Amino acid sequence: PELSRTEDTIAAIATPPGPGAIGVIKISGPEAETIAHRLFRPKKPRKYFESHRLYYGHILDPENGEVIDEVLVALMRKPHSYTREDVLEIYAHSGYLVLTRILELVLKSGARLAEPGEFTRRAFLNGRIDLAQAEAVQELITARSESALKLALNQLSGKLSERINEVKERLLSLLAIVEAAVDFPEEDIEIIAPAEMARTLREGILRPIEKLVASFREGRIYREGLAVVLAGRPNVGKSSLLNALLREERAIVTPIPGTTRDVLEETAQIGGLPVRLIDTAGLRETEDVVEALGVAKAKEKLETADLVIFLVDGKELPTEEDRRLYEQVIERPHLVAVNKIDIAPEEHLSKWERFFPEKPVFISAKEGTGLSELSRKVFEIVIGKGPSEPPEIAPNLRQKAALERAAEAVKRALGLLEQAAPLPELLAIELREALSALSEITGEVTTEDLLDRIFSTFCIGK
Ligand code: GDP
Ligand code: ZN
Repeated sequence: PELSRTEDTIAAIATPPGPGAIGVIKISGPEAETIAHRLFRPKKPRKYFESHRLYYGHILDPENGEVIDEVLVALMRKPHSYTREDVLEIYAHSGYLVLTRILELVLKSGARLAEPGEFTRRAFLNGRIDLAQAEAVQELITARSESALKLALNQLSGKLSERINEVKERLLSLLAIVEAAVDFPEEDIEIIAPAEMARTLREGILRPIEKLVASFREGRIYREGLAVVLAGRPNVGKSSLLNALLREERAIVTPIPGTTRDVLEETAQIGGLPVRLIDTAGLRETEDVVEALGVAKAKEKLETADLVIFLVDGKELPTEEDRRLYEQVIERPHLVAVNKIDIAPEEHLSKWERFFPEKPVFISAKEGTGLSELSRKVFEIVIGKGPSEPPEIAPNLRQKAALERAAEAVKRALGLLEQAAPLPELLAIELREALSALSEITGEVTTEDLLDRIFSTFCIGK
């Protein structure tokens, strides 16, 4: 791409704020080496830094010679660097304040502060990675589960791009034939064999595109996790179940700030699937304003949930309240669990079994019984099959939209091919449209706007 505007040198602190044993400052651009000579005094004086070597020494304020920190630095000469420009990395020993001071000196020495994602943007603009890979960098950083991480790594290694490029190759060969027919209309008859072309379009192009589109939903579940709401009247054991599931497979647990007294959210994994478990404090009708707010919130959670686990107390008999709450979840994707089977009398359990028009799962949150059956059922309902590996590749929302546009164009082309004498000019338009949509995914076709949108979601220093 020729949107490159990489004459200037950018710098940022690449490690997150807060205390840490080490902090990294990243500098990329033509001034990187000059900055190294200006601010860094190696233990053994030298005029030349070899590429990809660590040097030990100190950062000095060039104005007064004051030592700022003891550091290691490495210069990665272009093109063998993250951005394909000269990159200087300074590994400082100290905290954020010192890092900020070093960054200030770097900025005074001819660099400017990097925008969010600008290093990765340069890596893209300089052709080291394509756009889908650039997006994977951010996904890698924000991955919330092992499976999300795996997906991101596959995308970073170029697996999605490979698949897209295969399809593009096929499209390009078809387009070449169609364009020949446009250019040499006299010889048209045998240049295009409509039936054969339709078969390639359907099987070699449309099918792989649609397969990728279909993997979006599953990919999204693995990336973002599943929102699972625990519903049921007070004291049936919602919090206990939440804790039991967290104990079973506690993974990357992120307590969500702003947790209200009524809705508690935690992330666990159910069979490798990241799950946001949301414990609602009942969904009762109430006069109390504060509680009513909580109930409104719980209802909202219920409506946006991917799955509701409706919990009842097996030691009790069904009540009117159970029935009313059940009616609220029955329209949603849900499963029913009868809890406390460790202390529930047998005849209560059979009453519950008859109470629900569906087959409940019997569990004890306290003793952990029935939880694997519960997990299996969660999988069946949400993914439509038992616990399994995440898809190897799956597009993100932007990529899926482009794939869908490509699929539409291919379908229109197929429609044309069904006509008695398809016009090559019209066919060419559709094939080009499909190609251009696919090229947006890898970034051969792109705009500043799109790049801004993608890279503004990155953190500074990436
Ligand atoms: P919530 O109001 O729905 O969140 O219910 P809690 O999780 O706070 O549980 C209410 C009470 O039921 C607590 O005293 C729990 O110890 C108890 N409890 C929850 N699950 C079980 C279970 O499976 N067996 C038994 N025996 N007690 C349970
Ligand atoms: Zn509770």
